[in-house]
Amino acid sequence: MTQSVQPATDRRPPPVASASAGAAALSAAMTQFDAAADHIQLDPGLRAVLRAAQRELTVNFPVKRDDGTTQVLTGYRVQHNLARGPAKGGLRFHPATDLDEVRALAMWMTWKCALVNVPFGGAKGGVTVDPRSLSEREKESVTRRFATELEWLIGPEKDIPAPDMGTNAQTMAWIMDTVSMHRGYSVPGVVTGKPVAIGGSLGRADATGQGVVYNVEEACRRLGVELRGARIAVQGFGNVGEASARLLHQAGAKIVAVTDVSGGVTDERGLDPVMLRRYLEETGSVAGAPGTRPIDNEQLFALDVEVLVLAALENQIGADNAERVRARILAEGANGPVDPAADPILRRNGVNVIPDILCNAGGVVVSYFEWVQNREARFWSLDEINSRLHEIIVEAAGTVWQRAESDGIPSRLAAHAIAVERVAEATRLRGLYP
Ligand code: NAD
Repeated sequence: MTQSVQPATDRRPPPVASASAGAAALSAAMTQFDAAADHIQLDPGLRAVLRAAQRELTVNFPVKRDDGTTQVLTGYRVQHNLARGPAKGGLRFHPATDLDEVRALAMWMTWKCALVNVPFGGAKGGVTVDPRSLSEREKESVTRRFATELEWLIGPEKDIPAPDMGTNAQTMAWIMDTVSMHRGYSVPGVVTGKPVAIGGSLGRADATGQGVVYNVEEACRRLGVELRGARIAVQGFGNVGEASARLLHQAGAKIVAVTDVSGGVTDERGLDPVMLRRYLEETGSVAGAPGTRPIDNEQLFALDVEVLVLAALENQIGADNAERVRARILAEGANGPVDPAADPILRRNGVNVIPDILCNAGGVVVSYFEWVQNREARFWSLDEINSRLHEIIVEAAGTVWQRAESDGIPSRLAAHAIAVERVAEATRLRGLYP
């Protein structure tokens, strides 16, 4: 790797405030950025600009619970960089969400948007709350109050939220309605990932999983792995994991194991993702689905499979368990599921990582399509969406595979180097104001 041109004074340690999962995610994001900045010999001033988030908002807001009590919740929105366009990134409802986690996710969004060349900067937001502890009415009231707190910051030209962990199309509908009520007219472009009936895009619900599948197909093609009949394990069975499992199954692969927050299931003969989803809807978990055997995360990570899809949380594979991963391809459906300490171990063991900013970019690409459709008030067919998505993912994957090969570097570093170069160029061209 090329040596850094950064003076020692600018190599600040990551701003790790605590030992939380969020602090670990931020430390991972900073380590990945520094490696890319070193590799491309980024100018020290630009490094300092890109290392820091441009805006960070923390809000504390009250909600009325169904039992009549009042609870104060904390929410965040971080805009990391706006050089390439309005801020874009999901909103997460999760009990462990904190400012450091949101900072890390916002930075990853900046790189992701640049890598797939959509004209957005990076942002992320979240509320520290367990959505499973909320009734539907309470969820709506948390969402509407949080949207009101964010309202001055978000908008089609400014910052466009989308679903993430613990949020979905319904959450986006409530945000769109709240902003529209305040403005007195409909503002569909304020969020993406809305239901189709109110201006959402066809294909958005499956887009992240579809992007994972296009990436896995591309990796299989380049590595000479036959996807039909390939054995696949999936951690997480939500927006990303369920769609990835279902679409990989449709492509002829064999889903041999799935875990979620409450447990996991395995079947050597192959699981049926449609049946698993029905079972999840009835019981709240895939655990215990008929005809399956139980499995936990650590067992799932160690399975002898062609593809391991991580579609749950950050920091799942670290230095302690990376040695046990035997998959040929590790597809990062989630953001930050592999700690930087695990990367060299996986590489040494021949595990081909499809880095998160490439692997799960399908969601933001179709969000971009949704935003364009809202601006034009003209809607595209599902075939058109999937074929444009395919083209963008294959193109981005091609640049990453080529850069990794030409520079002799891991795919994650290649992806970050390309993305950081693009954001740095935009930042440099715009210059410093005033
Ligand atoms: P989700 O809330 O819909 O699903 C999360 C899944 O992970 C659930 O099945 C949950 O049970 C499972 N899970 C939680 N903790 C777990 C644990 N300890 N072990 C195993 N499973 C566990 O969330 P999502 O939208 O699918 O997001 C998953 C990941 O993908 C996140 O990292 C998110 O940032 C990333 N992502 C999501 C999108 C999107 O469009 N939704 C886009 C890009 C990236």
